[in-house]
Amino acid sequence: MKVTVEQGKCVGSGQCVLHAGDVFDQRDNDGVVVLLNENPPAEQAESVREAATFCPAMAIQIEE
Ligand code: SF4
Repeated sequence: MKVTVEQGKCVGSGQCVLHAGDVFDQRDNDGVVVLLNENPPAEQAESVREAATFCPAMAIQIEE
């Protein structure tokens, strides 16, 4: 799995961090997403898919 984020789309809702806190973080000053791990391990894949699904800005892309 390869994860990319579009920080320009992010609205800082934090859904990604809620679902996959090992893979996503938010910048302290404005809440924009920060990608911690672009190649998460298999056991985190489902959480990352959920994060992408629940992101209201569709700012998370996944290549399986
Ligand atoms: S869920 Fe989407 S909009 Fe919300 S912080 Fe994460 S990337 Fe940004």
